[in-house]
Amino acid sequence: ERVNIVSFFHHIIDRFEMNKNENIIIERQLPKDSLFIWLDKDKIIQVVDNIISNAIKYSPKGGKIKVRIIRVRQKVKVSITDQGVGIATEKLDKIFERFYRADKARSRELGGTGLGLAIAKEIIESHHGQIWAESQEGKGTTVLFTLPLINRKRGNR
Ligand code: ATP
Ligand code: MG
Repeated sequence: ERVNIVSFFHHIIDRFEMNKNENIIIERQLPKDSLFIWLDKDKIIQVVDNIISNAIKYSPKGGKIKVRIIRVRQKVKVSITDQGVGIATEKLDKIFERFYRADKARSRELGGTGLGLAIAKEIIESHHGQIWAESQEGKGTTVLFTLPLINRKRGNR
C-alpha cells in the first residue's frame, strides 16, 4: 500500500521505545515532509524491528541508536546506526547470509538464529531496494537500505 515513510517510521520507533523496558533512546533524523513509498507495512516492520533489535543486542547498555532517513533522487535511504561492538570488514557481506553469525561465542550467549538479516535482505529486494552494512570494529555499525519513491510525475497516487 502507499505509505508516508516518515510518519510510518515515527510510529515504528515510538512503539519500540514503549515496548522495551530498558530506557532505550532512539535518535531520529527524519525529514519534515512526507515521502511516499509503495510497501508492505508488516514486512518492512519486520525488517526494521530486526535491525533495531540487532543494534540493541550488539551494543553495550546505554549505547545511542540513530535512525536517519534521507531522500536521494528517486529513492529514500534509511540508515540505522549503533555504537556497539561492530563487525569486521571481511564479514560485512556475510551477515546477510542465512544462519551466519559473526561472533560465535557472543551469539550463543545472546540467542537468535542468524536469520534476521537474511530475511531483511529478501524483503528489501522484493521491494526493489538494496541493503548493506558499514562498520568499524569496536566503534559501531550502520545498516542501510533504500526503497524506491513513488514517482509523482507518473501520477501514481
Ligand atoms: P536473529 O536475528 O535470527 O535472532 P541474529 O541477530 O544473530 O539472529 P542476524 O540479525 O541475521 O542474526 O545478524 C547476523 C549476524 O550479524 C549477527 O549474529 C551478528 O554477529 C552480526 N550483526 C548484525 N547486526 C549487528 C550489529 N548492529 N552490530 C554488530 N554485529 C551485528
Ligand atoms: Mg537479528
